[in-house]
Amino acid sequence: MKVEILGAYGGSTDTSFLTSFLIDDFLALDAGCLTQTLNLDGQVKVTDILISHTHLDHTLSLGFLVDNMFGLRDEPLKIWSGKAMIEAMQQHIFNEVIWPDFTQLPNAEEATMAFREVLPEITFSVRHLRITAVPVNHVVPCFAYFVASTETGGCILYTADTSTTDRVWQVANEIDRLDAVIVDCSFPNHMDDLAIASGHMTPAMLAADLKKLKRDCKIMIYHIKPMFEDQMIAELTALNIPNIDMGIQGKTYHF
Ligand SMILES: [Zn+2]
Ligand SMILES: [Zn+2]
Repeated sequence: MKVEILGAYGGSTDTSFLTSFLIDDFLALDAGCLTQTLNLDGQVKVTDILISHTHLDHTLSLGFLVDNMFGLRDEPLKIWSGKAMIEAMQQHIFNEVIWPDFTQLPNAEEATMAFREVLPEITFSVRHLRITAVPVNHVVPCFAYFVASTETGGCILYTADTSTTDRVWQVANEIDRLDAVIVDCSFPNHMDDLAIASGHMTPAMLAADLKKLKRDCKIMIYHIKPMFEDQMIAELTALNIPNIDMGIQGKTYHF
């Protein structure tokens, strides 16, 4: 399973891209920066997008990607997420005011985009990938996703945006195999009040939460706020978290 880290930040600058990961060229995890990091050929290959939650840093490029696909593909671009997230995207993004409703364009029968509802902890398949959503602790409804490949056996967990949480770690401990966790760490330690209020983690909160994970796997940090990056890397380094990777954007992993 090929996992490309297109964008790994919780803020947008010329070098920090908003959260998007691409698996085996066709399945995107979140849509913060898909149109900024993929050329048109790469965009056309994306057939399915898992959305963790509706915040702009995870959905910003969705409208532009589907717009680019207009007339270029036979099947609709499938957007997978929970019921609350789908309703929010329909109501607040694809509402004919902020952006067109591509589930009705050019007509309902040949739509450019289609939503697919994901139910918590009900595993489903997209081609050879097995996907399981688990709700996490953010300020809006938010799903973490386990993605496992039936071709390689590899499995990753993307926690999405979350503060201290429990259930996703329980599931992580129960599954057969887990190679890597892509996990939220957004603010430096002295900003823990803001981290808790906004549904995120500091390095110290993350280290405490990772004690619930009873597995030996790669820990990949995402969602660092760019203005705090140097300080947060120093704080994360001081915590001596085993097998940690703090600079994942632009890298490609194989699991
Ligand atoms: Zn968020
Ligand atoms: Zn975010």
